[in-house]
Amino acid sequence: MKTKEIVMTEEARCSECGQQGRAVETLALKALLRPDALARLEVTASYCFCASPSCAVVYFADEVESIYHKADLEVRVGLKETDDPISLCYCFGHTRASVSEEIERTGNTSAPASITAHIKAGRCGCDVNNPSGACCLGEVNKAVKKLKAAIERAGFPVKENQP
Ligand SMILES: [Zn+2]
Repeated sequence: MKTKEIVMTEEARCSECGQQGRAVETLALKALLRPDALARLEVTASYCFCASPSCAVVYFADEVESIYHKADLEVRVGLKETDDPISLCYCFGHTRASVSEEIERTGNTSAPASITAHIKAGRCGCDVNNPSGACCLGEVNKAVKKLKAAIERAGFPVKENQP
């Protein structure tokens, strides 16, 4: 894998929600944009990912005024969706529903440990599968914590994650 050369600028804020974006490699856009959206990709621009859950913008490159919204992608951006199916891990197919079902049934989920093992084995493809271009594990852990709290409130017994 070649060395990543991403320069994060302070000014890279989403023009629609104002949140600071996270630099993403153009490769992720090439992998995930629908054909008509890909056809207007500015290949020399530095794109950022907007991680605001309520913002419809997914990628933006301010210097060339290029913006892509949720509808421009082949995949659903899990952290911007509230209705199932909500992807948590794009490489190995964990969804909010599958993780939730496992927690309700067993009190815990093997998803974070399973993903970690795949990452260690070099099978993780978040750089091209995950719209954010970043590792999904942080989002997965956040979602697991939220789901466990909700499921526990609903009266199901929940176990702590093993480190
Ligand atoms: Zn935004």
